[in-house]
Amino acid sequence: MRPSLSSTRVIGAANVAVILVAVVALMIMPGDDPAAHAPPEAARVGRIQPAPSPGQPSSPAASGQPSGQPSEPATMPTASQPPAVVATPEFARQVKANEAGLVPIIMYHRIIKKRMASIDRTPAQLRQELEKLAKQGYVPITAAEFAAGRVQVPAGKFPVVLTFDDGHPSHFALDDQGRPAKNTAVAIIYDVARKYPSFRPVATFWVNHYPFGLQKQEQQASAVQWLHKQGFEVANHTWAHPNLRAMGTKKVREQIARLERMLKKLGVPPSTTMALPFGSMPHKKKAARKGEWGGVPYDFDAVFLAGAEPSLSPFAKGYDPGAVQRIQSNGKKGECRKWCSQYWLEWLQKHPGWRYVSDGDSDRVSVPKKLQGNIAPKRRDQVNAY
Ligand SMILES: [Zn+2]
Repeated sequence: MRPSLSSTRVIGAANVAVILVAVVALMIMPGDDPAAHAPPEAARVGRIQPAPSPGQPSSPAASGQPSGQPSEPATMPTASQPPAVVATPEFARQVKANEAGLVPIIMYHRIIKKRMASIDRTPAQLRQELEKLAKQGYVPITAAEFAAGRVQVPAGKFPVVLTFDDGHPSHFALDDQGRPAKNTAVAIIYDVARKYPSFRPVATFWVNHYPFGLQKQEQQASAVQWLHKQGFEVANHTWAHPNLRAMGTKKVREQIARLERMLKKLGVPPSTTMALPFGSMPHKKKAARKGEWGGVPYDFDAVFLAGAEPSLSPFAKGYDPGAVQRIQSNGKKGECRKWCSQYWLEWLQKHPGWRYVSDGDSDRVSVPKKLQGNIAPKRRDQVNAY
């Protein structure tokens, strides 16, 4: 047990704010204490780790190399979800399902070889983190799937949401043969999915105008449509990345609606999720989630912070779709001694009873009987307790 969790109800959550290149602020926000939603002590003590079956590296022939190997869409790992199973209470018990558990939603910014800000990650760091997730039994879902409660990962596996902010060119580009360019986030995700077939190649890209640094509308359209077709999510991070807290409500709506209008023009469906620039909530919280400007409506299933903790399950009591926590991808140095991804992924490995474990059944919400009370009332008819 982590002593501070049992001894105090308060976790400060570092909320990381970013202006394109530089980290401009780091503020301490009152965090949602996982202890408040965690299994009771009795349920955790003596609990056997869910024992995720580690992703098996595939044969060298099937595993993609970072460079030099063709990776046409036809040969790329698929984003299709596994067939759902019917989880009986006995089955849920066997796989140690806990759909009231915590889900890491990891936040990435630029993926560049020479880091200039602490939130930058190198391609090698991204690759390492994704491989670690694959080996530990995590399976990616998009933020849209998470927010809609479509947490369809195989039984006994753990959902993870990979999110990339600001539509940086290092997230996605196609090379001259139409393949994801080497060392972009998308290319690295596919590399990892080839090596670990259980790792579903999906992620969420929250973009501003000029997605992926592309200036021409036709380039932007082909980029976002390519991603959408492959199962990636491209969604709203506002038009110009302002601090929404410093704006009037009408301006907030304009910032969000203009980006929605752009995405529609580029040929992708309306966003069902959005990430707040700098994690900064407008004074009128509701305006971030639902509104209208210039005849363009928006209505998101969830709004994401720039946070510092794993998120509550979307089925949990206390889950707030208006302010979903994320974790910055980073090591354990400085401000990230706590609150960033290395810290939290290690923490979740050490506290498996707190982690979301799927039952593989998209209709039921499986939990140990002791955690039944943690499920939100509107999900009660789906509960499969064991
Ligand atoms: Zn941003």
